[in-house]
Amino acid sequence: MTRQEYLVSRMRGFDTTIFSEMSALAVRTGSINLGQGFPDTDGPAEVFEAAVEAIRAGHNQYPPGRGIPALRQAIADHQQRYYGLTYDPDREVLVTAGATEAIAATMLALCESGDEVIVLEPTYDSYSASIALAGAVLRPVTLHHPEYRLDIDAVRAAVSPRTRLLMINSPHNPTGRVLDRAELTAIAELAVERDLIVVTDEVYEHLAFDRAHIPLATLPGMRDRTITISSAGKTFSCTGWKVGWVCASPALTDAVATTKQFLTYVNGAPFQHAIVAGLALPENRIEDIATNLRNRRDQLRDGLLAAGLDVHPCEGTYFLTVDVASLGESDGLAFCRALPERIGVVAIPSSVFYLDPGPARSLVRFAFCKQAAVLDGAVRRLVELSTHRVRSPA
Ligand code: PMP
Ligand code: GLN
Repeated sequence: MTRQEYLVSRMRGFDTTIFSEMSALAVRTGSINLGQGFPDTDGPAEVFEAAVEAIRAGHNQYPPGRGIPALRQAIADHQQRYYGLTYDPDREVLVTAGATEAIAATMLALCESGDEVIVLEPTYDSYSASIALAGAVLRPVTLHHPEYRLDIDAVRAAVSPRTRLLMINSPHNPTGRVLDRAELTAIAELAVERDLIVVTDEVYEHLAFDRAHIPLATLPGMRDRTITISSAGKTFSCTGWKVGWVCASPALTDAVATTKQFLTYVNGAPFQHAIVAGLALPENRIEDIATNLRNRRDQLRDGLLAAGLDVHPCEGTYFLTVDVASLGESDGLAFCRALPERIGVVAIPSSVFYLDPGPARSLVRFAFCKQAAVLDGAVRRLVELSTHRVRSPA
């Protein structure tokens, strides 16, 4: 299969990525969009003002390749303040065009054709695409629903002489799982034993609701074998700004930076200034964002339960998973395709996050990063499903 054929096959019949396709469908049908994960309210006003101010102040030309020094310093300070991790802002921090570019640049920088990358499945869609673009091979290790616990024996069994990278994601999209210390320790011990480099996607690091987020790099033996990826998009509710970053040892950062410079060269100068302001916010302001989202999660979970849906536990992120088998539906993809016309709600079929969904075929992901009234409206429509009524024309 060519790389293009592989990428298209991963879209499972949608014209573009599932997220773009479903957001377009939401607009076309006037549906409530609980598909693509983006908030419908702005984040902290200071951060948004800082972006406007940066444009007015003339920060509109190419910034330095690794990111403006003030942002690299702010990222290093953040890692120190929250996690006690020390990074040299000049040699160990790289600013990227969102986490998406950081992931792509990492795969392209480190993988040779035929190398294997172990990932947790369900798998955020850009991982499999980036791995394919690098000519590498994805080795999924499934987090089985509904608990989504890590099976370290399965990870161990997936390690082969061709393993180049192990990639994890916590808090995890789409399941909402936050890996606990025992699971992360097991990964760290395996990585040290087998001398593996681990890529950790922590874009939802500030959206862990029920258990503290533990960065993998804080575990013994991990700091210099871990590539930590994060992004401002979720923390500050600005997913459209695409400011992400990598923290890693100098050698790994150099490798990723070498690739990044020929993907986008640099990115969004004024937004980088704004994220300096964001990362300088007092901790309670960032906690407020998480508290608000936790309330939204509880609201949607309670609504979905009241609508008779089978809701899986969610400890973080923007997302809740339901099993529509409880509605007598076996195919989440067909369910999501029909949902906008049936009741005016858009959701994402979780099957798109699996190489072979198998028993996960009936899972569906709903985003709760929306205003309370929007979630209420969606729940009212979903109740109609379980009562087999169809939305009357507006
Ligand atoms: N990783 C995960 C797990 C995500 O959910 C997302 C979605 N935004 C990304 C990476 C990409 O982040 P960004 O928008 O910063 O590129
Ligand atoms: N991370 C968000 C999600 O999972 C948005 C993804 C995207 O638009 N590529 O829905």
